[in-house]
Amino acid sequence: MCGFVGIIGPTDVAPGLHIALQALQHRGQDSAGIATMAADGARFFMRRGLGKVTRALDAEDLRALEGPVGIGHVRYPTIGRGVLADAQPFFYRQPGVLMAHNGNVTNYDELSESLAARSIHLLSRCDVEPAMCEFADALMERRKSGHTIDDALEALRAVRARVRGSYSIVAALMLDGEPTLVVFRDPNGIRPVTVGRREDGAWIAASESVALDALDFEHYEEPQPDTAFFLRPGREPIRHRLDAKAPAPCVFEFIYFARPDSVIEGRSVYEVRLAMGRALAERIQRKGIEVDVVIPVPDTARPAATAVAETLGRPLREGLIKNRYSGRTFIMPDGLTRSAALRLKLNPLPREIKGRRVLLVDDSIVRGSTLGRVLALVRDAGASEVHLAIHSPPVRNPCFYGIDMSTEEELFARRFPADLEALEREAAAGLGAESLSFLDVEGMDAAYAGPRCAACFDGAYPQVLSERDRAGITRDRRGDAQSSTSSGVLG
Ligand code: SF4
Repeated sequence: MCGFVGIIGPTDVAPGLHIALQALQHRGQDSAGIATMAADGARFFMRRGLGKVTRALDAEDLRALEGPVGIGHVRYPTIGRGVLADAQPFFYRQPGVLMAHNGNVTNYDELSESLAARSIHLLSRCDVEPAMCEFADALMERRKSGHTIDDALEALRAVRARVRGSYSIVAALMLDGEPTLVVFRDPNGIRPVTVGRREDGAWIAASESVALDALDFEHYEEPQPDTAFFLRPGREPIRHRLDAKAPAPCVFEFIYFARPDSVIEGRSVYEVRLAMGRALAERIQRKGIEVDVVIPVPDTARPAATAVAETLGRPLREGLIKNRYSGRTFIMPDGLTRSAALRLKLNPLPREIKGRRVLLVDDSIVRGSTLGRVLALVRDAGASEVHLAIHSPPVRNPCFYGIDMSTEEELFARRFPADLEALEREAAAGLGAESLSFLDVEGMDAAYAGPRCAACFDGAYPQVLSERDRAGITRDRRGDAQSSTSSGVLG
């Protein structure tokens, strides 16, 4: 998962891109980058670094980034590793294109071979690179210089015909002799993108609306998968129609990934999380579960936990305090890493827990390992009973569209029966909880109320995945899992 932003305006855009990337920091902390293009299209500037935005890019970098159009990116790798070669944005010399994306290209290996057959060789394992190479190659096929919007339209149609998976893309290049920001999505519109405008004539395209808020841009529109946007300062967007399939925006953005203050697909993420909490509480009531206090696992679960507490008529308490400043933990020889890492990130408040029947609310269970340790923390802090409530359905299938959700064999829910109540009973016993309640798919759909991808829950992938694509992504995930030294709160 990643976050991107593109800005085109009357003045240098690098400082604004730097601020917008900080607003999108939650979408990726492995690397950050900004690339800009001079107004005459003759010079390009790029700075990328590992780590969070303020570590990867300093004031000197921003001074070097000239130009009234540019692109920024924060990366969380789902294919490839957290190395500088994979950091975005990417640049292609002919005809001079900057590009960044959010998503997951599922046929990377096939594209890599096809490009190599045309003597175009990739320098990274980052999946926007083959998309950018296809785009640039298609442009150069049309003509060698002086490209127009029509040329770009044909090129991005070629990208959409060849590149499978999820991708929301922003690109900057000269079209019709003018700096132009191009925005388009995969045919199902799986990953979000929103466009805003400002009084000075500037335009922005970003993964989430919080990037617009930070820079005083007004929401303009969320480009749909059937439309490509071409943005130039001070003028209305130029739109062109594209073929599209049934819309399938990722529902997991609403459950976990996006910031609660973002608006995606016209819906407030916060409001959707509240609705999920209400639906979950109704299910808990139907099951006859009684608790004394509701405690969110910080931070994502807080809105849903608020609604659970309100619906159940029980107090909401901060029984687990998150350390905002903990970073990565590394493998230690004494085997204490995982529990120490968790205590570094989450510390219980025994006064809120001791002697009480606690309902612990979390957003999702993927591997289940971390939640088991959180539960043990609460038990050790003196809870008389610990009940678990999850404001999403069980994750039964890996995501191939940009959220790193393990391989099939690592998924917690796959260890248990398919029947929801049987799963809840057996999983609660396995975790050592008095009860476990998931939001069911019907409750999730009632809360979200719109077309969506929910393949990680219901297995209905919006695109057909070839065995080769599936095997390639799984292989990469296994490789990453074996080499990873990070320990996150989510598991
Ligand atoms: S499979 Fe799940 S995480 Fe992946 S795009 Fe679909 S809903 Fe989102």
